[in-house]
Amino acid sequence: MTSTYVHPFREGSKDERALLGGKGANLAEMTRLGLPVPPGFTITTDACRYYMHEGENPPELAAQVATALGEVERDLGRAFGDPADPLLVSVRSGAAMSMPGMLETVLNVGLNDETVRGLAERSGSERFAQDSYRRLLQMFGRTVQGIEGERFEEVMDRTKAERGVATDVELTAEDLRGVVEQFQRIIAEETGAPFPQDPREQLRQSIRAVFDSWNAPRAIIYRNAERISHEMGTAVTVCSMVFGNLDDRSATGVAFTRDPATGQGGVYGDFLVNAQGEDVVAGIRNTRSLPELGEVVPEVYAELTGIMETLEGHYRDLCDIEFTVESGHLWMLQTRVGKRTAAAAFRIATTLVDEGVIDEDEALRRVSGEQLTRLMFPRFDDHAERELVARGLNASPGAAVGEVVFDSESAITQQHEGVATILVRRETNPEDLGGMLAADGVLTSRGGKTSHAAVVARGLGKTCVCGAESLEVDEKNKVIRSGGEVIAREGDLLSIDGSTGEVFRGEVPVVPSEVAQYLAGEVDAEGGDVSDLVASVHRLMTVADRTRRLRVRANADTAEDAARARAMGAEGIGLVRTEHMFLGPRRKHVEDLVLAADDEERQAVLERLLPMQRDDFVGILEAMGTHPVTIRLLDPPLHEFLPDITDLSVKVARSEERGKKGSKRDRRVLAAVRRLHEQNPMLGLRGVRLGLTIPGLYGMQTRAILEAEAHVRRAGGEPHVEIMIPLVSSIRELLEIKRELDAVREEVVGEVGLDLDFRIGTMIELPRAALRADEIAEVAEFFSFGTNDLTQTTWGFSRDDVEAGFFFTYKDRGILLTSPFESIDQYGVGELVRIGAERGRRTNPRLKLGVCGEHGGDPDSIHFFHHVGLDYVSCSPFRVPVARLEAGRATL
Ligand code: PEP
Ligand code: MG
Repeated sequence: MTSTYVHPFREGSKDERALLGGKGANLAEMTRLGLPVPPGFTITTDACRYYMHEGENPPELAAQVATALGEVERDLGRAFGDPADPLLVSVRSGAAMSMPGMLETVLNVGLNDETVRGLAERSGSERFAQDSYRRLLQMFGRTVQGIEGERFEEVMDRTKAERGVATDVELTAEDLRGVVEQFQRIIAEETGAPFPQDPREQLRQSIRAVFDSWNAPRAIIYRNAERISHEMGTAVTVCSMVFGNLDDRSATGVAFTRDPATGQGGVYGDFLVNAQGEDVVAGIRNTRSLPELGEVVPEVYAELTGIMETLEGHYRDLCDIEFTVESGHLWMLQTRVGKRTAAAAFRIATTLVDEGVIDEDEALRRVSGEQLTRLMFPRFDDHAERELVARGLNASPGAAVGEVVFDSESAITQQHEGVATILVRRETNPEDLGGMLAADGVLTSRGGKTSHAAVVARGLGKTCVCGAESLEVDEKNKVIRSGGEVIAREGDLLSIDGSTGEVFRGEVPVVPSEVAQYLAGEVDAEGGDVSDLVASVHRLMTVADRTRRLRVRANADTAEDAARARAMGAEGIGLVRTEHMFLGPRRKHVEDLVLAADDEERQAVLERLLPMQRDDFVGILEAMGTHPVTIRLLDPPLHEFLPDITDLSVKVARSEERGKKGSKRDRRVLAAVRRLHEQNPMLGLRGVRLGLTIPGLYGMQTRAILEAEAHVRRAGGEPHVEIMIPLVSSIRELLEIKRELDAVREEVVGEVGLDLDFRIGTMIELPRAALRADEIAEVAEFFSFGTNDLTQTTWGFSRDDVEAGFFFTYKDRGILLTSPFESIDQYGVGELVRIGAERGRRTNPRLKLGVCGEHGGDPDSIHFFHHVGLDYVSCSPFRVPVARLEAGRATL
């Protein structure tokens, strides 16, 4: 069976981007609409994929191209290779997803030593013909034959110097003929063969070069960054050439059907008389504003504005257009739904609703959580100068400027003095939390996007760049170096961009975000006096809230965080990580707990902790009002709480050396740390395992929660408490803990005389828990999928360090398009979520299902959770608006 790999423009439509590429699909659409498109055809992405897999073109391709070319010749009454009146074509790439400037293009294909004379005659311009020929030789040599572009540029520069002129346009026909000869010599020298004079051979090789450009290194890097699949391949459009540089009734330009910044209707764009497309882009000559085209060629201008209206009505969106006028005849070379900034996307969407072009659902479809994120963070002023000194991972967005500090205490001291700081560490640990809170930004040289620094910074909404590996952070001497050069010392200013991962020396000016102020409830959009942008965001957030089924909660560990989450629209807390309450000065109590020699000592520590925990919970419950609050019992990888084994060993050894025995406590701690030391603490004594190992710990926390609940109820509140058990893999673990918790409840109810109630649920964050969900749901009243640990344990990747390690190679080689810790791996980890949800609900149809891993704030993951039927997502307070918006979009 033969396949069809070539489609003339009159076949196909805008909906066939996957097959015809964006350019081909839209040229087909315009042809169907009866607009003046130069005749041509598109070679499908199927052909490119065939070529990539087989290393050669599909056998049918050559004949199909010949047939399509024959049709173009007939349409135009001009033949490819005809020395008297040659047909010339452009050969352009066209991927389904736009990859601007990444793939190749060859123009003027069909010119040779003979047809160049025909072109000169037909155009009446020898100079024009020679210039077109030298452009072909240059593009063909570079793109198709892989010759260094510089070799051609040298010739141009030399010729201009010899003629004493500054620009290409000043070269004469004679000069260009000389250039053509020299270009031909370069090609013969470099390839060992003359430039192919056969136009069909030129075409064949150009098509192949466009296919090859799909896998050029820069294209691969671009696709990795934009998460575009490497499998798609590019289409190739072959289009008859039209010339905007024939005479003074010729022109070339770009147009927008609306203002691309605001969405306001009107005629926007630029053009140049007597010029080719490249000249507009190259900015050699000053372009003129589109309405002036009416003065040059009035009938063409009228036709163009008519076409713009047709396109806008047809696409129901802002379109951008490339056009050429050849001797008073208008040709449409390209159109597409125009690219826009995040702010313009919101404004355009609501403007189109106001004009009755689209409805509100469609408007919601046209904006994204990613765009909203971009609008929320303060950013560096685009116009400001900057000196890039390093690049790391964009761990937590925003722009931060401050003095470099190397430890938490300095960050805190500086904060008291009102000085902005950037906390720079090799990597952070829970001890740095205070410093991270105090600093304006966090920069680490090690660690991936789920390293401690990254997760905590995102939770705090703190700008963070992590894993900037070229930086050598010398915490002892308080200096940052790169390749031996000193980048900054303590107190020097540094600017970090958490949205791009860039690190700049000195201070880059920052502008605040009005959208963030609105989303944090600091600006009342209903009140009226807000910018167009805030009004648009408000309107679409309202549509999203009305549309969505998923509830949105926040991960928050303090009353302040909880209050912030509420202001951002959170409908509860999906995860209180109680281990965060044991940091700072309270860390000592964890040590005491581990060191306790007997029940009595342990009980004493627990009693000391109880009132502190109770106060923590009271604050959070009060901040959340009647909304549910899920409190997770302690889940620390113990190594984060105990001193570093090496440091401590050194300390004890030193004092022994000096003849002292060392403090008794140090020796006891060292013994305990040795006993508890684990090769892989993330898979060790954590979560429910700790709860079962340290008697009374979970009981104490439960008592603190219930006493807090009683306190808030007595004050007239109506808290909804959910207690969550972490890292469960077996129903037996849960049963044991539930027994302990129920006993505590009975006790406390007896003491306070109130009917206290709470739900007990579990995290599903180990594959076994997902697989045994039906059994676990017999005890658990809710599940919260801990997709951080579930990803770690399903893939067997260590969440702490994998992203700074071989992930780079995996991404480069296209094995992973994106980190599974950032966006849920729908087929693996996601399958376990699906299984867990289905099996859990089979046992208990009323089981409440949520997710509280980092994925709860990721747009693609949110759509997935919606489709799997979860009830809510929980994410950091700053992601709540994004989650609301995406949860709304997921329903469309
Ligand atoms: C998880 O594992 O997804 C989770 C939310 O828990 P943590 O990140 O605290 O391990
Ligand atoms: Mg976890």
